[in-house]
Order: sequence, then C-alpha cells, then structure tokens
Amino acid sequence: MSALYAVMGWPIAHSRSPAMHNAALRELSIPGCYVPWAVPPARLGQAVEAAAALGCGGFNVTLPHKAAVMAFLDEVDAPARAIGAVNTVIRDGSRWLGINTDAAGLSASLREAGVTLDGTRVVLVGAGGAARAAVVGLALAGAEAIAVAARRSDQARALCAELAPVCGKTRVSAIEFGTQLVQAQRSAGLFIQATSATLGQTPPGFVETLALGELPAGAAVCDLVYKPRITAVLERAAQLGLRPVDGLGMLLHQGALAFERWTARPAPLALMRRALTGEG
Ligand code: NDP
Repeated sequence: MSALYAVMGWPIAHSRSPAMHNAALRELSIPGCYVPWAVPPARLGQAVEAAAALGCGGFNVTLPHKAAVMAFLDEVDAPARAIGAVNTVIRDGSRWLGINTDAAGLSASLREAGVTLDGTRVVLVGAGGAARAAVVGLALAGAEAIAVAARRSDQARALCAELAPVCGKTRVSAIEFGTQLVQAQRSAGLFIQATSATLGQTPPGFVETLALGELPAGAAVCDLVYKPRITAVLERAAQLGLRPVDGLGMLLHQGALAFERWTARPAPLALMRRALTGEG
C-alpha cells in the first residue's frame, strides 16, 4: 500500500518540506508521497478528519496551525504541550498523536555542528514560538542555564514563568537587553537568535544590541532564521571568530525526526539537506 504524508499550512506553496520528504521516500524505496495541503484556519478540524479518512500516515503542521491543531488530536506529548505547539502528527492505530520535533531538531542540529549542550550556559533572544521550542529543546538536552531576552521584557518573563516548570534542572530566567545581556554573554557557550528580526533585511542596529563581542572565544552562535542562510547575526559571529550555526540544520532535523517517527527508518540526512537547499 502506498503511504500518504502531508504538511498543512495557510499558505503552504513556499514550503520546502515536500521536496525534502519526497526525496527521502524515493531514496528508501518507500512507495508513497508527501503533499502540501493549503488548509484555511476555519477548516483545520475537517482537514484532520479528512487525513484520517484518507489513510494518511502522519502530517506536519506549520503556520498558522501549530497551536490550533492540538484541539483536534487525541493526544499531545508533554514537550509539545509545554511549548504550546505541535509540528508533527503521528498516526497511532486509530489515534492522532501530536509532538514537536522543532525542539529536538534544534538540539540535533547543534550537536551535528559540534556544539556541546550538556552543562552549557545559553543566551537566547526572542519570545515567540521558535524561542519556546528552543528553550524546551535545550533544557531537555541538559543546558545548565538559559537566559532569555526579548524586546518586550514582559514576553520574556512570561515565557520563563511558563516553561521553567518543564525545564527540569535547567535554570531559565528573563534578562534585559543592555547590562544584563552583556553579563550573560560573558559566560555563555551558546547564543541563539530566535526572533524574526534577521528574516530578509535585518533592522539597522539589531545585531549591535546582541553584544556578541562579549561571548567567550569558542562560543557558538545559532540563528534559527534560514532565509537568508547566512544572516547578519551569523556574519557578525564569523567576523568575531565565533562558531556560526545556521537555521537550516534545525529545519532539516525536525523533518528527519518526523520522517523517522512515521516510517521507522533512518532518515537519509545528506539527501534531505540537498533537497532543502535545492542543490541536487
Ligand atoms: P513569532 O512571530 O512567534 O515570534 C517572533 C519573535 O521575534 C517575537 O518575540 C518578536 O517580538 C521578535 N521580533 C521580531 N522582530 C524583532 C526585532 N526587530 N527586535 C527584537 N525582536 C523582534 O515567530 P517564531 O518564533 O515562530 O519564529 C521566529 C523565526 O524563527 C522565524 O522568522 C522563522 O524563520 C524562524 N524559525 C526557524 C525554524 C527552523 O526550523 N530553523 C523553525 C521555526 C521558526 P514581538 O513579539 O515584540 O514582535
């Protein structure tokens, strides 16, 4: 029988996930396909029901459905509940299980780049959905502490208050831009840019507010934004001799983790990366 997988979003035409997953299915000779489904927000529940009726083996969920989809699933695992977003849905018998592979995808990408996460102090900027996934993922990976700064400091405080209870031994605290950020950078091994500021044109002055020059030698700087692949933050990190890690790795690994859950086969990572970047 042919397997059916999908990604639901609105809009969805821009998604690179079909190219990545179809390449992987072909490579492993798994008969089936992964299709983009443009699902208007008001019809999300119907789309989830239709997926079951059509025998869909699992699907991804992207903007704007990542939080709303939870209402239509039979179960959502604890990390996804804490993050408040599901990006991957798995068919488990007659049930839909929601998980979040963005969190573990980021950790896998950083490890692949040679970044140690266990016992590391992290500074993270941003307080949206990607920041929430990153905080939970890094805590699960054993980070010692995560200091979170956002331009609206109430957002950073709310994120920390909500996520600290699920972050185990990892200390999660809100900090202000300025002196507190400078101090936190001085003892950090990893900086995460989790805002959308570097998408396309980075606003003037944004990179300077991050105090990257305060990071110790050898620290890694990861920008979750992958368009452009080398963002203004990664350019600055490279100039400073720090270790830049781009956001494409997180995109790749969240997809690979979803693929492995659906098919129970190891994901062909190199091929999926080429499909994402359009090289091959
Ligand atoms: P959200 O819209 O949920 O959050 C965006 C965050 O960025 C908010 O905290 C927002 O602050 C902040 N922000 C925007 N502009 C600025 C600025 N100029 N200065 C300071 N803060 C700013 O988006 P997501 O969290 O879902 O995604 C963030 C980025 O991460 C996206 O651009 C996306 O490309 C990337 N991403 C990458 C993934 C990957 O696999 N690599 C996965 C998911 C996301 P405010 O609330 O004040 O506006």
